[in-house]
Amino acid sequence: MGATPDSVVTAQEDLDLEESFNTLIAQIKDYNPSTNHTLLRKAYLYARSAHVLQKRSSGEPFLTHPLNVALILTEFKVDDSTIVAALLHDVLEDTAILPENLSAIFGHEITSLVSSLTKLKRLNAVSKEVFQARNFRKVLLAMASDIRVLLIKLADRLHNMRTLRFLDPNDQHRIAIETTETYAPLAARMGVQTIREELEDLSFAFLNPKLHAYITRKLNHNAQHTLMLVTKIEDELTTKLKAFGINADVVGRKKQPYSIWLKMERKSISFEQLSDLIGFRILVHSVIDCYTVLGIVHTTWTSVPGRFKDYISTPKANDYSAIHTTIVGPLQQRVELQIRTFAMHHIAEHGIAAHYKYKDQPEDSLDSAAPIEHISRAYHWLRETVALIGEGQSVEEFVEHTKLALFQDHVFCFTPKGQLITLPAGSNSIDFAYAVHTDVGNSAVGTKINGRYSTMFAQLSNGDEVQILCSPRAKPPYEWVKYAKTARAKTAIKRVNFKSVV
Ligand code: MN
Repeated sequence: MGATPDSVVTAQEDLDLEESFNTLIAQIKDYNPSTNHTLLRKAYLYARSAHVLQKRSSGEPFLTHPLNVALILTEFKVDDSTIVAALLHDVLEDTAILPENLSAIFGHEITSLVSSLTKLKRLNAVSKEVFQARNFRKVLLAMASDIRVLLIKLADRLHNMRTLRFLDPNDQHRIAIETTETYAPLAARMGVQTIREELEDLSFAFLNPKLHAYITRKLNHNAQHTLMLVTKIEDELTTKLKAFGINADVVGRKKQPYSIWLKMERKSISFEQLSDLIGFRILVHSVIDCYTVLGIVHTTWTSVPGRFKDYISTPKANDYSAIHTTIVGPLQQRVELQIRTFAMHHIAEHGIAAHYKYKDQPEDSLDSAAPIEHISRAYHWLRETVALIGEGQSVEEFVEHTKLALFQDHVFCFTPKGQLITLPAGSNSIDFAYAVHTDVGNSAVGTKINGRYSTMFAQLSNGDEVQILCSPRAKPPYEWVKYAKTARAKTAIKRVNFKSVV
């Protein structure tokens, strides 16, 4: 990040930033009228001065980035701490600010969110080997013990992808691959479909620009015809459903070039052979209505055999619920239909983050109670959360219960060169040293954790960088056996001590 004296924010840029900040506040007030304006303003000004000398590759002031990340997050109706952490998410990395400084002003909760994000970022810099070993995804999940960290990270990546065109081609390629391999699956796992789709499509545009352009061109070419068809079907559907007394939202679904490409590849067919470029969603208020709609649709049009799937009675592994069917519509065009309740739709789009909404909109709860109970089967902790919300628990307790419990039995640490060392939870520097190499363990005399001297017995945390200090004449004291967690370390310590006695 080149901080040159001439990269100071101009008066006009400052006005633009100020306007973005006001937009941000307005969007937050939409879903959270009691937002702490003073706190947000303080965070904004803090980030402004921290990044004042930095520019994005686009030439814009760096502050546009954290502001946009915060803006993306408003879609998920996140709390003030998450917004503040988003505004501050890059200040520890590229500036001289220390966690202590942040903590003094913004407190422990926000500082811990920002620190976790900084640790995650350090991971991006580690060796390619580590990254490709698919450990990265595990590490990512393990380190992000708070669901809000993952949400901010996804929003951060989304904004970086939206502005990827300003980077040089090599970086574009690397970041796009990282996005498809790690961040899009993470978004899918969290059930955040809106972010997943955009990440996938943006990556596709950079990794396969010709194909992306080709499919986009074809889609645009078809647009006129599609629009006509969409309007026709939409009208017919709405009228039919009304006649049966069903109140439904019928919305045409725009398909992304990436998902079309996946289909072409999977079925080895050309664009022209794709039969279902048109998709609809029918959103209703209750599960019973879903099945009534299905009945109406199937008695009105011919359904295509083999295309009917009931994910309401059998949800997908990621908790996706809906009824899918394909019909032969007017003009003999195949039309893909997804039928679901508003609650299912909200969860399909926002995933884990959907729960903020349920807290804010109790009037929705009568209709949504059953689907949530049903849908959240796969996430035990998610159901607990919903129960807590039902009991009117505080936001703090809500957040406490949304912590991810994945990979809790492992701790992921790094050597100063960025090599990943995976250890059982509760391990310390003794275990770390022996995991690196038996010789390192045998000659260890001290340790530095994240650059600070520490004892060999201190428990390691996810993301710690551990530097073992060695002396060729050292010998591990026998009492280390008591402190070592791994069998590998225990065995080696016993062997060395036994040998020297003999
Ligand atoms: Mn960032």
